[in-house]
Amino acid sequence: MNTCAQKEHHADLCVIGGGLAGLTAGLAAARHGCRVVLMQDRPVLGGNCSSEIRMWPLGCHEGWNREAGILEELQLENLYRNPRKNYSLWDSVLFGAALQQPNLELLLNCTCQSAEMASTNRIAAVTGWQLTTYTSHRISADYFADCSGDSILSFLTGAHFRKGREGREEYGESIAPEKADACTMGMSCLLQAQQRQAPSGFIPPAWANRYPSPESFPNRPHDLTDKTFNYWWLELGGTQDTIADTETLRDELVKTALGAWDHIKNHGAHHAENWELMWAGFLPGKRESRRYVGAYTMTENDVRAEGQFSDVIAYGGWTMDDHHPEGLRYPGEPNIFHPAPSPFGIPLRCLYSENIENLGFAGRNISVTHAAMSASRVMNTCALLGQALGTAVFVAYKNGLRDFSALYPAYVPEIQQFLQEDDCYLPRHRRTVAPGCLTAKLEGAEETIRDGVDRDLPGEAHGCLLSCGQEIRYTWDGVKQIRSIRLVFDSDFARETVNSDPVLRWYPMLCNIPAGMEDFHVPATLVKNYRIFWRDAAGQWKQYRAVTNNYQRLNHYVCGLAATGLAFLPMSTWGAEKCHVFSFDFEEGPAALSQ
Ligand SMILES: Cc1cc2nc3c(=O)[nH]c(=O)nc-3n(C[C@H](O)[C@H](O)[C@H](O)COP(=O)(O)OP(=O)(O)OC[C@H]3O[C@@H](n4cnc5c(N)ncnc54)[C@H](O)[C@@H]3O)c2cc1C
Repeated sequence: MNTCAQKEHHADLCVIGGGLAGLTAGLAAARHGCRVVLMQDRPVLGGNCSSEIRMWPLGCHEGWNREAGILEELQLENLYRNPRKNYSLWDSVLFGAALQQPNLELLLNCTCQSAEMASTNRIAAVTGWQLTTYTSHRISADYFADCSGDSILSFLTGAHFRKGREGREEYGESIAPEKADACTMGMSCLLQAQQRQAPSGFIPPAWANRYPSPESFPNRPHDLTDKTFNYWWLELGGTQDTIADTETLRDELVKTALGAWDHIKNHGAHHAENWELMWAGFLPGKRESRRYVGAYTMTENDVRAEGQFSDVIAYGGWTMDDHHPEGLRYPGEPNIFHPAPSPFGIPLRCLYSENIENLGFAGRNISVTHAAMSASRVMNTCALLGQALGTAVFVAYKNGLRDFSALYPAYVPEIQQFLQEDDCYLPRHRRTVAPGCLTAKLEGAEETIRDGVDRDLPGEAHGCLLSCGQEIRYTWDGVKQIRSIRLVFDSDFARETVNSDPVLRWYPMLCNIPAGMEDFHVPATLVKNYRIFWRDAAGQWKQYRAVTNNYQRLNHYVCGLAATGLAFLPMSTWGAEKCHVFSFDFEEGPAALSQ
């Protein structure tokens, strides 16, 4: 008898789930040199922001505190290649990042369904079923990162987890319900519409729900003149089991969503005459199910106190946006935005299991209470958490630590420094700039070009504004081996220069696409063409790089130059008059891996 194919893989890190958290975890670890297998049960990456679900990734609001790191790199690639914010192109941006990443093996359409334990508190391997190839993939690894949202490995390994809302007394949380319960936030199937030049009709399927009354959707914005609404309130399931009941809920959500579109088009004045439904989701986006219990559980009070932890490795900035568990069945306000500071720090200790030593997690399933999770769950925050976890795995691997808990507190500064070098801002922290750079003679820029802060902070300007053709130069006595050169440009965190529409430009992706929408483009502030020079032992200046068409914020070169000086010369931007450069610095060290 034939059996299904079996494949064995070995990795340093196995990531389960390819939402933004899983993707950035895998990329971060692989970029630092770990061998990574990323297992994702869908054909596309991105989870709730993929074309299968279509939720826009959000986070901090103020502009200066925008999440950077790998997330910003992906979003700038999207602005460059996807001028109409088409979800399939966004999928291709995420797919391309994984596909082109050395050290990362991507297993798509592969569902993690079992785990083998090396001991009661250590995972040896996981197995996933790939539905397109009828193949069973077994991955043995030293570290596992559960970024599945639903915490599949809690169920398979016995890792401690919680579900539902804590009672008010347990952590002294003022926004928690008086008594603990099993309620969560619900899930949603979304819609996407496009405005045409001429009117179009809509005939609902016979099985869609009917909402003929003007009062059908109280407190749920659905007038198409509002550019900011995106059907998130089509929410159900918070009083049921958001894992076991998903398929039944999905059927109801699809009936509800198409019924809602019928209501918008055919019942009442919603300015929808020229709007056409271009996509309806059949895969529910989930908000909440199981949250792991880690070495620390972050609470509402920690969020309110700005998360001032010594082991901060990421930050949030969304409000505590708690939804009513009855979702659409509750006629009152569907959610409450409890204020939260922006940013608030999140500690490393929320990212690894309290009882399974080689299990980490990132995304909506980290170790937080329901109240804190209502803020930490948004996708920009999840992407930062993923990058932090991938970086922590690398530090554990590099230092031969088998157990995540050995990272705290000794290795926290190392993780924080790597994260900041990789353009992840950490509130109240400053990147350490190499001493050789700090003592070099600087010409053409202020000291703020090498102060270890790669963005403007409220009331504090960093970096410098240069004219095109104005050079920054470092020189020193004797020859130094230059290991790397690092530049950070201004990618217009407020996104004021990517489109003239003040509402649409704030959103990384769109829900309803208005007619005649102007294309989005790369932030005008980014330096587009530039050159780097180095001075040799004889004092001769030579060109190291002539970079054209740059559209990234972080530009990092691993070099290996035996130099007596370095210079940076901006040539042009994507439209801004001045070149805003936040950092130009270098690190000494042994010769290069590549040039
Ligand atoms: C309707 C709705 C509206 C929202 N609004 C916003 C918003 O406006 N902005 C915002 O930023 N956030 C929003 N959120 C919250 C946000 O989308 C989630 O909190 C976030 O996506 C969680 O990220 P994650 O990476 O943990 O999980 P996900 O994005 O769900 O990614 C997890 C991935 O793991 C995969 N997976 C699951 N199980 C397995 C398995 N066994 N094996 C392999 N792979 C597996 C899943 O298919 C998925 O791709 C919203 C959520 C919903 C549902």
